[in-house]
Amino acid sequence: MSMVSPRSYDDVAAASPLVAKTESATNRDAWRAMRRGFMGNCPACGEGKLFSRYLKVNDACPVCHEEMHHQRADDAPPYFTILVVGHVVGAAMLAVEESYDNLPLWLHIAVWPLLSLVLCLTLLPRFKGALIGLQWANRMHGFATAIPVTPKSGSGPAL
Ligand SMILES: [Zn+2]
Repeated sequence: MSMVSPRSYDDVAAASPLVAKTESATNRDAWRAMRRGFMGNCPACGEGKLFSRYLKVNDACPVCHEEMHHQRADDAPPYFTILVVGHVVGAAMLAVEESYDNLPLWLHIAVWPLLSLVLCLTLLPRFKGALIGLQWANRMHGFATAIPVTPKSGSGPAL
């Protein structure tokens, strides 16, 4: 085994069909990565699951082994979730209140909090996935130097 000095992402991609299936080092489409993340999939290959639990991000993609632990979504997903849900539910409350005068108070109390809860729980992981996709596409927080982990039993490139 010979020693190879620093390998680039492109070197790995050229040597491995699994990695070549993902996007190259010079071409990371931000919209595609965000769309894949929004759907809960790996921004690199679009096939592996991004989350292992509700909001717990996999350390690496189970399919292409792209490292995902570099993500730093932090407070951005809740911020965007609150922004969207607040505007949607707030506007809906005002529209319903203006359109229907005789709705009982219990109906408002039952509908709006439940709708808010369902929308928040639905959108939060989607926004987190989209933000991770954006970070990955823009090589933020360590995604720039990330080289996929070679599967131990696979036929990855020789080091
Ligand atoms: Zn992947």
